[in-house]
Order: sequence, then C-alpha cells, then structure tokens
Amino acid sequence: MVQHGASVVIKRAVAAVAAAASLAAVSACGGSDSGKTVNGKPVIDVLVQYDSTNRLPIEKNKWVKTLEAACDCSISWQIVQQNAWAQQKSAILTSGDVPDVSIRAFNPDDAAKFPYFENLSPYIDKMPNVKEFFDQNPSAKRMVSDLDGNLEILPAQFPEGGSNQHWMINKAWLDKLGLKMPTTWDELTQVLKAFKEQDPNGNGKADEIPFDVAALGTDGFRWYTPMLALGSTGIVTQAQGGPFQNGIYVKGGKVKEWLTSDELKETLQWYASLFKQKLIPTDALTQDGSKYGSALTGTETAATVGLAFAYQPAAFGSHAKEYAALPTPKANASMSDSDVVWDASGDYGKYENYHLAVKKDDPHMDNIVKLINSLYSEKMSVQQFYGDIPELVTDEGNSSYKVSDKVFADPNVSYSLGGCFAGWFPDNVKIAGDPNLTARKEAESAYQKAYSNYKVNEDSMPIWVKLDNADQTTFSNNNTQILNYAIPLIAKWMNGTESDYAQKWDTYVSQVNKLGLEQNVQLWQKWYDKYSEQKF
Ligand code: MG
Repeated sequence: MVQHGASVVIKRAVAAVAAAASLAAVSACGGSDSGKTVNGKPVIDVLVQYDSTNRLPIEKNKWVKTLEAACDCSISWQIVQQNAWAQQKSAILTSGDVPDVSIRAFNPDDAAKFPYFENLSPYIDKMPNVKEFFDQNPSAKRMVSDLDGNLEILPAQFPEGGSNQHWMINKAWLDKLGLKMPTTWDELTQVLKAFKEQDPNGNGKADEIPFDVAALGTDGFRWYTPMLALGSTGIVTQAQGGPFQNGIYVKGGKVKEWLTSDELKETLQWYASLFKQKLIPTDALTQDGSKYGSALTGTETAATVGLAFAYQPAAFGSHAKEYAALPTPKANASMSDSDVVWDASGDYGKYENYHLAVKKDDPHMDNIVKLINSLYSEKMSVQQFYGDIPELVTDEGNSSYKVSDKVFADPNVSYSLGGCFAGWFPDNVKIAGDPNLTARKEAESAYQKAYSNYKVNEDSMPIWVKLDNADQTTFSNNNTQILNYAIPLIAKWMNGTESDYAQKWDTYVSQVNKLGLEQNVQLWQKWYDKYSEQKF
C-alpha cells in the first residue's frame, strides 16, 4: 500500500536547513562503517523492515550470497521488526545516521523532510533493471518523483495487480437455494432475505449473517469500507489509498467529493433498508475490526456469512470454497451494464512507494548501484519474494516460475522477504503455485466489465499526484474536522436511526463544506493539474 502524502516542493528549503544538522549528527556518530572491509571488500549496511516475526533470518537465503557477489561487497544486514520500526525510524531520522541502504523503511515524505537520502535519478542509467522497471511502469516512477524529477526512494512492484477488495458472496448457499447471482441491489436484497430465512448452511439454526460490513472507522474510509458499494452507483472508489479515503473522487479529470453526493445518499438509503430488515447485524457499525474478521470465518462446522467485502475467499477461513466474487450489482435496474464500476485501487496494490533508499553521499556508491541493480533483476525479485531457486521456486524458463508448496505449508514459517522485498515483477512474469495470486486473479475476473467502464487516472486519482507540505497539512486538518463531524452522522443514516434527508441532510452538507470539504476538492484539483501538466 502506498504511504501517501506530501510533499516535495517545499522540501529543498527545508533540506538546506536540515543539512547542517545532519552533518553535525554524522560526525558525532563517527561517520558509520564507511571504512570497514571484510576480505578486502567494503561492508555495506543494509536495513530491512520485516512485516512478520515468522520470517526466517535473512542469512538463511542463498540469494544473499548472489547479491554479495554482484555488488562486490560484504553486506551487514540489520533486520527491524515492524512493531519496533516506528521508534527506530524516529531515532534514525533524529540522528541522521541512516544505513547505506534501507529496504521498506523510508518513504518519499521522509525523503522530502530529511536531507539524508541520495537522489537516485542520475544513477538510473547505471541500473538497467531499475530503468526497465520505470520504462515499463511510468506510474511507478512518477509516484516516487517530485515535480523536478528527483527521486530518493525506489518503489516495488508486486506480482499481478488488481483491487484487494471484492464483493464476496456465498455461492454454495445461492446454489443450494436455487438462486442466481444477483445483478441489482433489489435482487441482492431478495437473496439476502433468502439467506436469512432459509437456513442455507443447513444446521437448523437461524445463525446466518446475510451481509456483514465493517465499521466506518474514525480517521478515514479504509480499504474494506462498506462505501465500496458506491461502485454500484457509478462512483469510482479507491478504498486502498489516496484522498478517496477522505471523501474525494475524480471523474473525467475533475476532482469531486462524494461525501455530499446523491450517490452516497442512495447508498445510505439502501444500507438503511438492509439494517431495517435485519439483513446486516444491528451492531455492525460499532464492532471492532478483529471481531468483523473473525465473524467472516463462520464456525468450525458451518459458514455463517452470506456476503462481505473481502480480499478473496481465504477471508472466510475453512469455508473459503463456498465463496465467489459477485460482479458489481447495479444500484437500480434502470442502469446499464456500462454504468457500474469497480474500485480503482489497483495501482495501490501493485506498487508501494517506500522500498529502497540510499544514504546521501555514500562513499560506496559504485557497489550500491550494483547491489540495487541485482535486487531489481527478475530472478532476484522472485527469490526475494518467494525463496531460493531451485530449493523453493522452479525456474521454468521464459519468465515462468513455479512456487513450491513448501513456501505455503506452515503459516508460522515465512521464507525470504515476501512483501518486504526491493524488486519488481514485470507484467510478463508468470507465477504458478501461489494460492493467493490464483484466488485474487479469479476474484478480479468478475470485474473486467466494470473496470472497462472508466479510465484509470482520468476517473480516479493517479497514485503519483501528491500535495505539497503546506496543502497536505491543510488537507489533514480539514479531514480531522470533517470526519469527526460526518462519520457519526453517516453511520446513523446508514443504519437507519436517522432518516431525515431534507433539513438535516442540508445542514450536514453546508457544515462539511464549512469544515473544508470544498477546499479539499480545490487542493486536489490544483495538484492533479500540476502533475498532469508535468513533462514526464
Ligand atoms: Mg443456519
């Protein structure tokens, strides 16, 4: 997921001030290990932030030796666990003593605020694998570049993009009750009623939850938000990142807000009708995330959930096989198949913007350039992500790889770096044997028509549009005000405890605009235009 945010433009001025501080900090620390050698080769410090304590020690990977040979250096690894990273990161950024290379550690915002990182733009030609990555994925390059073309952080590209959320329906229940996949909200409502009344899990108990939704959250609409249903009304959601999470969307290059839209109103009214018919649990909007997640897995013997927004069938635990993706239903029957859309978070799932940074003015830049180029090669990317070739992955030639069952056999053992890698998967690479990819690809196939109904980056916020520091601060402050006020109200309209769409709705609309919603739209339009005009 992209660590989104701010700014690059004010940065140079900030950088100049901070540079003096950094020089002092570095000399106080003795300038790190720049003079150290092992067997006559320079030692390069490489920090990796792990996402899980299940990962094997990095030295267990044989590709580490390949990497050392490629960089003609000796690597001193430092692994930081995710739960310790926030503290470590702030200590490092305070001292200015950053490692030679940091993987999945610093993002473009950090680089914008602190002058400790090398501008890698002049080195791209010396790293043909990175150059190829950017040539094939201009969005990935723009995402980490400022308006002057400087870039201090390299992104990663994950295997096979796509949205990480889908309408997942219990297909086994549909089949058992002789029902078709619903194509409209009305049909879906009838299906949910049947789920509630006809004991589709066959245990003789009325324990079915026809539709489970997650709470709205307090600090923005998150990637599994029930507002994903807006796709049924034609609004392109981007639940996994960017300003959609704060009420912004884009249509035909025009930045808009959905928090006061008729489409939101229509969605809230549909939800309220479902709450009223007890087709959604009464307490759904107050349950915490872990309770929601565990509810999806049903009981040991029976599935209990009929419909939910989820990544893929695995979200339903041992009952995964019963679930399939439901193509976006139309909000009403008068709409055409061209009017519905599905979530445009694909680029947020495909790329992450914080995967490799290099210390500024590092004395071993030649070795580091070789190291990075090796990491971003196809085979090294595959090995970093899944594990060593041939022990854990079979290279079948022609950019096709088969991942061994061993990699997924024990949920308590994670090989190699997985999502903590610094590398990329070109679109032509074929991966077999990864059950997550297979399941996601199948779920995504239900949305091909809905995806074809809009243009990414014209009808959604490009991942490379960023606000500058000042505007980001304004945007954040506005959001705090807007969401504190709006979310409790939206929850009430959603669960039907409030139904006044006349006077109270009008008051709500004028109040959120007063709190900065209109200003937020203008800020994003300004930067959308600036980045769109950028010669790239
Ligand atoms: Mg039952």
